[in-house]
Amino acid sequence: MGQDIRPVRGMNDILPDQTPVWQHVETVLREILEAYGYRELRLPLLERTELFKRSIGEQTDIVEKEMYTFVDRSGDSLTLRPEATAGVVRAGISNGLLHNQQQRVWTMGPMFRYERPQKGRYRQFHQLDVEALGYAGPDVDAELILMGARLWKALGIEELKLEINSLGTVDSRQAYREKLIEYFAAHRDQLDEDSERRLGNNPFRILDSKNPDMQDLITAAPSMIDYLDEESDAHFKGLLQYLDNVGIDYMVNPRLVRGLDYYTRTVFEWLTDKLGAQGAVCSGGRYDGLIEQLGGRETPAVGWAMGMERLVSMVELAATVKTRSDVDIYVVASGDAAQSKAMGLAEGLRDDFPGMRLQLNCGGGSFKSQLKRADRSGAQVAVILGEQEIDSGEAILKPLRTKHEQSRVSIVDVGAELRKLLD
Ligand code: ATP
Ligand code: MG
Repeated sequence: MGQDIRPVRGMNDILPDQTPVWQHVETVLREILEAYGYRELRLPLLERTELFKRSIGEQTDIVEKEMYTFVDRSGDSLTLRPEATAGVVRAGISNGLLHNQQQRVWTMGPMFRYERPQKGRYRQFHQLDVEALGYAGPDVDAELILMGARLWKALGIEELKLEINSLGTVDSRQAYREKLIEYFAAHRDQLDEDSERRLGNNPFRILDSKNPDMQDLITAAPSMIDYLDEESDAHFKGLLQYLDNVGIDYMVNPRLVRGLDYYTRTVFEWLTDKLGAQGAVCSGGRYDGLIEQLGGRETPAVGWAMGMERLVSMVELAATVKTRSDVDIYVVASGDAAQSKAMGLAEGLRDDFPGMRLQLNCGGGSFKSQLKRADRSGAQVAVILGEQEIDSGEAILKPLRTKHEQSRVSIVDVGAELRKLLD
């Protein structure tokens, strides 16, 4: 392949052999979203760069080094969305969906981050994003977590662990921030280069460091939970109470901070150890200040985003999806006249038997090679039209997966006979 049309690094094709699992997952999650009364929202992939800078935060990995940003022909700086919450909030504000209203919405599609590609980490990946806007919680925080739990169960995934934390309000975070700077400054010699840089501008990011050499230092750091303001503390306890009451297992992880700046109060992650270093399958939290920060009225909100590639991998590992073949019936024809007849027959069957999946042999070929294709298609039955059958107004039905003999039936009875064979 010419060098110039190679695929873009970290951007994958999802091939026909892989899409059945994706479709299964998408069907299940749509059903569950509907069961909770969430409505779909579809958003553009491009937003103004400023939106992400102002929401995710200038001093985050995403904004500093992961965004696909370019200037369009009219000189505007645009960015391929690295996540969905900013766009959901932007849409809420620009469409007037938030004022004196509550919205429970979801959106799904590709996100873009210039990261180092590896298993479970790509430059184009997909997220399901669920948001509840206009709710102060903690009941809705609990609902969002329950929805996740129901989803894993419906997909046959058992091993996801829920970690949860509260980041408090902007003010209580400020108090904690100072404690954190004090602590890390006292251990400056143990900080890696990145964390040293973070110390001045965004010490929370240090807690999010994946560097194994830093983990002991991070574990011993002061805990946000100890600095929560009274209301945030009550909110957090309220949430944990709901989770206890409905029987959801969780672990409070006081180091959980998340990689985006807009979170307040509740943050959580569903984690697995089945996907190597890429352990987070679903992450989210509350962002009570974001809507106002982006120019809307003060509106509390909470949501989560799930990595579809990681979820699909989990489903594949659990092997709970039975993938079926792509077609039920393969139609074989010999010669131009028969091909024309076969095309008409296939159309008629699709009219009369919705849900019956037929593939018509196209491009000719000998009977033998057509039957080989029929076999490879996974079809249960081949319908064969040869010259002799055209003359007699009949077709041959040949079962491909059972020992049953083939049979010759009148063209008008083909549909009914196929029905019997497929049942
Ligand atoms: P990580 O810690 O793995 O980098 P994150 O904290 O950056 O994740 P979020 O921004 O919260 O992740 O995105 C929500 C979910 O999207 C993650 O839990 C993960 O499942 C998925 N995700 C994030 N980045 C990628 C990526 N580059 N490739 C595939 N999935 C991703
Ligand atoms: Mg990340």
